Amino acid sequence: MASHYQILIIGGGTAGIMTAAQLKLKNKALDIGLIEPSETHYYQPAWTLVGAGAYDYKKTAQPMAKLIPKGVSWIKDYATAFNPSEHKVKTRSSGDITYDYLVVAPGLVMAPELIEGLPEALDKGVVCSNYTNPEHTWKLLRAFKGGNAIFTQPTTPIKCGGAPQKIAYMAADYFRKNGLTEKTNVVFATPGSVIFGVKPIRETLMKVIGRYGIHFKPYYAPFKIDADKKIVYFKHTAPQENKCVVNEDNHLGEVATGNEIIELPFDFLHLAPPQTAPKFIQESSLVNAAGWLDVDHHSLQHNNYHNIFGLGDVAGLPTAKTGAAVRKQVPVVVDNILTLINYDKIGNKSYNGYSSCPLVTGYGKMTLAEFDYDSNFTPDPKLKRMLVFNSDKEHWRLWMFKKVMLPYLYWNKMMKGKNV
Ligand SMILES: Cc1cc2nc3c(=O)[nH]c(=O)nc-3n(C[C@H](O)[C@H](O)[C@H](O)COP(=O)(O)OP(=O)(O)OC[C@H]3O[C@@H](n4cnc5c(N)ncnc54)[C@H](O)[C@@H]3O)c2cc1C
Repeated sequence: MASHYQILIIGGGTAGIMTAAQLKLKNKALDIGLIEPSETHYYQPAWTLVGAGAYDYKKTAQPMAKLIPKGVSWIKDYATAFNPSEHKVKTRSSGDITYDYLVVAPGLVMAPELIEGLPEALDKGVVCSNYTNPEHTWKLLRAFKGGNAIFTQPTTPIKCGGAPQKIAYMAADYFRKNGLTEKTNVVFATPGSVIFGVKPIRETLMKVIGRYGIHFKPYYAPFKIDADKKIVYFKHTAPQENKCVVNEDNHLGEVATGNEIIELPFDFLHLAPPQTAPKFIQESSLVNAAGWLDVDHHSLQHNNYHNIFGLGDVAGLPTAKTGAAVRKQVPVVVDNILTLINYDKIGNKSYNGYSSCPLVTGYGKMTLAEFDYDSNFTPDPKLKRMLVFNSDKEHWRLWMFKKVMLPYLYWNKMMKGKNV
């Protein structure tokens, strides 16, 4: 195996495979190496549906070998460290690999240890998460007989910021269909101040919350879980707002200590674990103060090393970490690298922070949040071809888009480097 590549890519996830595929489509002669340890590639966006029993988990996986584009060398290994001044990446067992251009796309990692008791609670299966095991979510949902069903998310950035609330809506709909609504309190507790940052979507979601009678708890940051007693502990992130009020009619059984700590007993608990950049990224000289890859927000070029680019979940970009964002980031990285190779200058393409979040709001219902760095609502004009003229409202066509069209486009277009 060669130890030098013209372009070296770290990670064979959404970002790494798409970048390799688009580069090869533009120029077959490029010499590309891709470091990726895993045998399997997952289409993670469908895990929300798996957790609600609406999609087969097996269909979310494909062999990595099938997806790595022809002519790209697969280095089946872990990248472990960087030496950017010598254009070198260290690997666990394949030695040092040098490059002319480097694309860093190893995604992010789950960090359950940042919430006390969460690793044990996950191990025991007392709590569930679509981020780690969506089939277990579905198992616990089916076993639920009533009581407090709590859905929450951490204070760290997470991939697909909407996923923790999507499963809350699906569960509320599942409880309704199964006659459990009267016996159930569905709670969505988030450290944030609002349900969603994009105004028209927020308005739709507040109606959805009202329809299901969900208890919406802003400013709630989970910090501890007692798996044996089945209690989740929250810190109130804005006690000065004086919103940490335990209602007199306290059928949730909330206990507030002072104005800052709230204990909430649960019969079902779904959460997104805290998430960080992988350790070898955090320990490198490539990160910003928050520990994410330090790239220019528009060119995706590293802020200190001109021959390094970063995209996908690992990138320190002030927008939502999604596959949809990756779809718009890849052409920018590809154009910039090819222009650097051919003309020794950076290309003209610029990433505007586009990201999107398909918010399923029940079985057969979805609203599609598409937005940019400024949280402007930016619906794709192509949706009109599907007869969707108001994607900020719930629509069954959007549900079909999520369940059928998006997986098809992912495997057959995006993974092959084609424009969608
Ligand atoms: C429950 C859930 C729901 C989601 N819903 C949506 C949605 O509806 N819409 C949407 O657009 N997105 C959604 N996403 C997010 C989307 O899946 C990610 O944003 C996307 O996969 C990011 O791509 P990536 O390439 O950066 O990371 P990944 O696709 O996670 O790939 C990272 C790759 O890097 C590899 N890697 C890790 N460490 C190393 C190393 N040391 N060396 C080499 N390789 C390494 C990994 O094995 C992996 O293959 C969801 C995610 C989850 C978990």
